[in-house]
Parts: sequence; structure tokens; C-alpha cells
Amino acid sequence: MPLETAGTFREWWLRMRAKLQRFMMGRYGVDQFSRFLNILVIVLLVVSLFVRNSLVYYVGVALLIYAYFRMFSRNHAKRYAENQRYLRLTAGFRGWYAKQKSYAQTRKTHHIYACPSCRQKIRIPKGKGRIAIRCPKCSTEFIKKS
Ligand SMILES: [Zn+2]
Repeated sequence: MPLETAGTFREWWLRMRAKLQRFMMGRYGVDQFSRFLNILVIVLLVVSLFVRNSLVYYVGVALLIYAYFRMFSRNHAKRYAENQRYLRLTAGFRGWYAKQKSYAQTRKTHHIYACPSCRQKIRIPKGKGRIAIRCPKCSTEFIKKS
């Protein structure tokens, strides 16, 4: 690429970036609800490739337009309230998901045993051979291979 062309391209790029920054000024931008909508849009559009139902496609496109509308919106209070409602409605599921994820992480380094007498779950680090475990809840002792 000749140097002048590279220079022009850089100027053009800086101009475009400044334009975009001006355009985004005062606009709401991306939040958790937007991210959820974007994932939903991708899922719907992918599904629409496989099902002979154009409704899926139109709902996907409508949600995409809605997601962009929210991103470019200047009504921050209303968008913020929508996001809060989304977070409230999905709190249970997101908590459950986070728990599953941390459980999967723990399973890599620890065994999880249930106490034979009170069913209390006990986390034991892996690779320590046969060990005696004392239940922190009812003090029952039992032997397990870690
Ligand atoms: Zn116990």
C-alpha cells in the first residue's frame, strides 16, 4: 500500500471513529438485557435456517431492531428500568447457573461426599489417598479415598 493511501485511510478511519463517538454520545449503550437479546437473536436466526417457519425469522429480526433501538436510545431511565426488570426476572436462573458453574469448577480439584449419617455435603481435595473425614455438622467420622 503506498504511504499516501495509508495516510488517507488513517484519516478516514479517525474521522469515522469521531463520527461514531459523536453519534453514540448521550445514548444508552449495551447492558445485560441487550446481551441477552443479542444471544436470543442469534439463536432465533440460526433456528430459522432449519425450520420452515418464517415467523421465527421475523421475530429474530424484530428483536434485533429492538436491541439496536435500546442501544441507541437516549431515554436512560426507561432502559435502565427495563434492564433492572430483566435482572430481577432472571435472578433465580442466573444464580442457579453460577452455582452449577462453580460446582463444575470444584469437581476438578475436589471430591464432594455426603456424610453417611446427616447427608451434609463435604468438600475434600483430590489426591490425598485414604483419609478419615470428620463431618463438621454431626462429627461422624468416615473413611474415603480422596
Ligand atoms: Zn454428618
